[in-house]
Amino acid sequence: MVQAKSWILKKHFEGFPKDTDFELKLEQLSDPKDGEIILEAVFLSVDPYMRPYSRVRMQAGDVMIGTQVAKVIQSNNPSFPVGCHVVGRCGWRTHTLSDGSDITKVLNDWPQDVSLSHALGAIGMPGLTALYGLEEVCAIKPGETLLVNAAAGAVGSVVGQIAKIKGCKVVGSAGSDEKVAYLKELGFDLAFNYKTVSSLEEALKNASPEGYDCYFENVGGPFSSVAIAQMKAFGRIAVCGGISLYNDTSPQTGPYPHLHMIFKQLKMEGFLVGRWEHKNKESLKRMLTWMQEGKLKCKEHVTVGFENMPAAFMGMLQGENVGKAIIKV
Ligand code: NDP
Repeated sequence: MVQAKSWILKKHFEGFPKDTDFELKLEQLSDPKDGEIILEAVFLSVDPYMRPYSRVRMQAGDVMIGTQVAKVIQSNNPSFPVGCHVVGRCGWRTHTLSDGSDITKVLNDWPQDVSLSHALGAIGMPGLTALYGLEEVCAIKPGETLLVNAAAGAVGSVVGQIAKIKGCKVVGSAGSDEKVAYLKELGFDLAFNYKTVSSLEEALKNASPEGYDCYFENVGGPFSSVAIAQMKAFGRIAVCGGISLYNDTSPQTGPYPHLHMIFKQLKMEGFLVGRWEHKNKESLKRMLTWMQEGKLKCKEHVTVGFENMPAAFMGMLQGENVGKAIIKV
């Protein structure tokens, strides 16, 4: 029998999450029956979506939702032999009894020298989000100017690098000087700390006086109001996330974007990465190639210890991470 640890959402978050909203539980897993396997988590992911999804997809008492890279340690399913690695939506658990649904094998030709943790980052859901937001939503073209916020995070750092690969000018904003230095290291043309600039409007104008063709939106709220006003005519805005809103207890209000959208004839489209799932295999291979060619660099902010997951989650929501926030069991 395998003993599993899991983190439970003890009660729904009110505002910013607190330690007391989480509870660590122990559970004995039964032996796998025909078609079943037991997974052992190796790396787990903490992501912003867990905050808004906790409200709409979870009940108090549920295991926290989330994805992990796991190793098959017992198997009664020939598709997943002992020793193979999978990416699974198992939630915040150390061990999972699975029937093979909701898990995907890590790419067959995953290189030995690339950590499997990247399957939760640049070569996983956040990387795909960056790629599809740029290619499918913005339809970005060489020579265009792109703005991305939360730019030093899992999605944003990949957005900027893909846009550079595509021959664009890239402006990024992030919440610390260390993050700004990282963006410059990654090849962003301009980067600034949105927390310390005296005027966001001036910072955006200085970075690109002619405005922006594309805006990859991760933050929402007041940043968005200022950025939309800096778009060029026929600009495209990919609404990927709104992290500045996720912990609000009451909705924020305007300024509203309508006049800018009308007079500049802007296109603004929200999206979920899952829309292009049918392209994932080819897309992941493409990004793995960029990584191996040194065109896509990916920092990780690694927290060691499953017991530290709530702290890592809250830390990520507060901007502690440079690159992808990962938990190593
Ligand atoms: P990150 O790795 O970027 O981590 C979150 C970052 O958000 C923090 O490091 C912090 O960076 C920034 N942040 C936190 N609070 C605020 C705030 N109040 N104002 C401005 N910035 C803030 O996370 P991801 O890359 O995983 O996600 C980025 C965005 O993409 C999120 O909004 C997420 O919900 C969205 N997303 C959407 C998907 C989709 O399918 N549509 C899929 C995946 C992600 P800083 O220090 O710079 O403030």
